[in-house]
Amino acid sequence: MSKTVGAVMTTRVVAGLIEDHKLQGGLREFPENIDDTNGLIEVPAESLCDIICDAIASLIPAGSTIDAAGVAMPGYVHQGVMLDAPNLPQLKGEQVCSNLSAGLKRRGIDVKLAVFNDADAVAAGIAATRGQMNRQVRVWTIGNGIGFGRYPYTEGPWEGGHMVVTLDPKENYCGCGGRGHLEGIMGHRAMRLRFLDMEPDEVFAAAKKGDKRCADFVERWHCALAAATASQIHLEGPGRFYYTGRDIERLELPRLKQHLWEMVKMSPLQNYMVEVLPDDDSLAVIGAGVAALIESKC
Ligand SMILES: [Zn+2]
Repeated sequence: MSKTVGAVMTTRVVAGLIEDHKLQGGLREFPENIDDTNGLIEVPAESLCDIICDAIASLIPAGSTIDAAGVAMPGYVHQGVMLDAPNLPQLKGEQVCSNLSAGLKRRGIDVKLAVFNDADAVAAGIAATRGQMNRQVRVWTIGNGIGFGRYPYTEGPWEGGHMVVTLDPKENYCGCGGRGHLEGIMGHRAMRLRFLDMEPDEVFAAAKKGDKRCADFVERWHCALAAATASQIHLEGPGRFYYTGRDIERLELPRLKQHLWEMVKMSPLQNYMVEVLPDDDSLAVIGAGVAALIESKC
């Protein structure tokens, strides 16, 4: 029976102990009294590392050991180094895996450690909790940023949130600075920049009430996600696509399906499956723990 700890960092750190693909004792948040308005964005990289190490240390049952620990973070992680992290810029260039490993050793913990992109951890969590470890899982996570995760892990940046989905020269709201990006339409920060006088939740509410400008945008939002999914289908083939994340309730699946139907016309590519999953932090936590057993990315 394998025992791991999974920790996921987004606007806060959420972690749990996992035994055989199942959470034991529920999820815990670290630090426990964080100010929700700013989250972790202003916390220096070194302190982020300490928060994660404390989380892992506190979840290992007294007198016991674990087989591996997995840490998931938003950004482009390659061989234990955070190459870029537009939504947590203090982590850019950090040797996250060796820093975490050293932090754990200072706490007397010597364990196999792996660091993943947070959306990849969600994909691993979906595979693990649905008995699909032998299948390909692709997932879009809709939250502050737009993540694209896949399981099994495959070498490459897989920065699906920065896929170009429009040629409109005015579409330049992406946090990475690139023009025409999916996240530049769907990302939280990008929506605030576009609608300077409205919060994203208000935009979606106004669209439902018939406000033309907001309704047009919500249509574009769905179109952009369909375009990114269609591009994925054309590159890697059909299969299972999941949609989840903090702001998943904004997604209307019939609208997404309609756009996809218009965008994917080659019959061998039409047997894709799309499914919405409610936002659930445990998916990424379980995924990080389970994937850490398989991958050694440090
Ligand atoms: Zn971008």
